[in-house]
Amino acid sequence: MATPELDILAIAAHRDDVEQTCGGTLLKMAEQGKRTGILDLTRGEMGTRGSAEDRAAEAAAAARILQVSWREALDIPDGRVENTWQNRLKVARVIRQTRPRVVILPYWKGRHPDHYTASKLGYEACFLAGLAKLDVDRALSTQQSAFSQIASAVASVVAGERQEPSAAKAASTRTHRGTTEEPALSLSKGAPGAAYGEFSGGAGETAAPHRPFKIIYATLYYDIRPSFVVDITDQFEARFESLMAYKTQFSDQEAGKDIFPARDEIRARIESMARFYGMLAGVTYGEPFLQKEVGLVEDVTAIPVKSI
Ligand SMILES: [Zn+2]
Repeated sequence: MATPELDILAIAAHRDDVEQTCGGTLLKMAEQGKRTGILDLTRGEMGTRGSAEDRAAEAAAAARILQVSWREALDIPDGRVENTWQNRLKVARVIRQTRPRVVILPYWKGRHPDHYTASKLGYEACFLAGLAKLDVDRALSTQQSAFSQIASAVASVVAGERQEPSAAKAASTRTHRGTTEEPALSLSKGAPGAAYGEFSGGAGETAAPHRPFKIIYATLYYDIRPSFVVDITDQFEARFESLMAYKTQFSDQEAGKDIFPARDEIRARIESMARFYGMLAGVTYGEPFLQKEVGLVEDVTAIPVKSI
């Protein structure tokens, strides 16, 4: 089967976000026989170190360590994750094609705008993906042709010999907009972001509507008390190695030294966070999550985590 159906899909703004916030959980689920996947919304071209191609190779290496079945990166500009109709459609398309039961999103508050925007974008894409009457591919191509029309209209204005200065300014603004928002829509293998898995979600493949059963939020980037913690004691070392697979970001080197701490320092930070959340749940290492819904219990004698 060309398109894998997943049990769990983690969606995040940047390559390496999942490794930091829920990689242990994905590995634990994979070890239990679940099919897991990662959708990175951007390709990391704004990073201080390394190119988008370097990061694609590193993301594939990290995915192997976490035993994910599928990983893909969309072409949303790094540092400019926006909750637009077009971006929601792109994510909804992936949700229909991978059909996860559970989606993991970033928490909806945070320091980095890409992170909290990814949360809302992901949620609304999950909703859209379930709308029976929405033809995602058609909506995306309509969007694209609208941008193409604007771009060609702008090009003809720019090509005109005599134009008012104000018109020229407006045209250049719109050209910029048209260029940056007009995406390559294909998710096919071999595109710069496609480095892992057997996903072939290119044109011609239409997926039926699908809405995930459950959405949970990875809260590690934000100081909030989680609804629950996943015990990743047995997965902690592998999760750390998956982060270290991003060699251009995390190895000891001169470029960007003030921004990126050395490996030992990263290890100490990652470990203290995992220990803190593990301690809340009475285990060694944990990853924190939040759910909007209440918990449902059949047997109160089987509720984990000791009170006294
Ligand atoms: Zn990030």
